[in-house]
Amino acid sequence: MKLWNVKIPIYDKDAFFELEIENGMVVSLDRHHEKISGYHVFSFSEKLEKDGEWDAKGRIVLPGLADAHMHLDKSHSLYAVGNESGTLEEAIENYSTYSPNFTDADVKARIKKTAFAALKHGTTAIRTHIDFNTKLDRAANFRGVRMVLEAKKELSELIDIQVFPMLPYFQYGEKDRTRIEEMLALGVDGIGGAPHLSEVPHETIDEIFRYAGEYDLPIDLHTDESDDPRVDTILYVAEKTIQTNYQGRVTVDHLCSLAAMEKNKAIRVIQKMKEAELMAITLPAANMYLQGRDDEGLVRRGTTRIGEIRDYGIPLAAASDNVCDPFHPFGRADLLQIAQLTGYTGHMGGREDLPELVKMITTIPKQIMGISGKGLSIGEEATFVMFDAQTLEELFAELPQTRAVFGKGRWLSRVWQEERIAVEGEYVYGERAHPLL
Ligand SMILES: [Zn+2]
Repeated sequence: MKLWNVKIPIYDKDAFFELEIENGMVVSLDRHHEKISGYHVFSFSEKLEKDGEWDAKGRIVLPGLADAHMHLDKSHSLYAVGNESGTLEEAIENYSTYSPNFTDADVKARIKKTAFAALKHGTTAIRTHIDFNTKLDRAANFRGVRMVLEAKKELSELIDIQVFPMLPYFQYGEKDRTRIEEMLALGVDGIGGAPHLSEVPHETIDEIFRYAGEYDLPIDLHTDESDDPRVDTILYVAEKTIQTNYQGRVTVDHLCSLAAMEKNKAIRVIQKMKEAELMAITLPAANMYLQGRDDEGLVRRGTTRIGEIRDYGIPLAAASDNVCDPFHPFGRADLLQIAQLTGYTGHMGGREDLPELVKMITTIPKQIMGISGKGLSIGEEATFVMFDAQTLEELFAELPQTRAVFGKGRWLSRVWQEERIAVEGEYVYGERAHPLL
């Protein structure tokens, strides 16, 4: 298959490329400078299927997006579990009270629905955190992990899913340990948790690192998801990472309290994160919704110090977190939308910022997730998403739903909307002055 006149802004935001794929692998990638005149409207044609060539007319192609932090098990549970106060505390309380009522079929259907939505929007890899509450009866305790492992297998020809069960955040007794060990033996991809919620956060962090070491698994933690500047379990996570030689294998997510701390302390924390080679994830949708609930007047955004973390060269991805559940009632598993929200919360809308936002949903989360060999370089398994947009400015302004996703040797999803308005035989999309005109 040959795609020509594609734009690949991770390599060059202005050049046009010809991308050749054989047996699912990228075999050539040539830059060329064909002049594109006018704004072209196109659709997937029979021709593409028949002779394997397609003129993309300057459309943007990005490596498959990677969503490094989702909660597939909770997604679309809002129909059953509400959250009247809109706080993190009520979301946790309501969800854990209601969750034993879910059936296997319900949980798996919701996991798949959200995975398909992510794929449709261009996401080819997901890391999902999964509740693992040993206080529930056995069936309810294991349901999320069992269902997501089944879904992972059933969807393996479409999308790559990493499963990170969240270890409980209280002191473990005999029963808790037996269940945790049984769960870790099921073939999960890493260990999650939210130790800042524990009454004994340091002990919980110790447990997480002990199990991770024992089962040789990476760690990915909800960390300091709080508006309180005194919450700084991140320092102990960093310390523990160094002590256990776990540098490069620990990811910390949210870091909301980091934004609330006074600047000197925040910089000390960020330096410590750098020393421990931690990787980080910002989750602007959920944090904007849940945080700042006690603020009046000037309500904080809830996100972390996006600019400062990036300035220190710490890998910082942006991810979806919750989709249509008591933690976050909105969302559509669309990382482009999340990147746009990151642009709002992190003040990243300038010309130089847009390519950085792209990295935060492509190359950086792949680095965090340890994914290599899949993307748009020669010799890689071709994994990409094409958008109906010709510039990054247009991409971020319109968040076009029209996208086509390629991976695992074939087109995985093609949502190509013919929603344009026919005017005198020509298709236009409102009136626009396009830089390529
Ligand atoms: Zn989360």
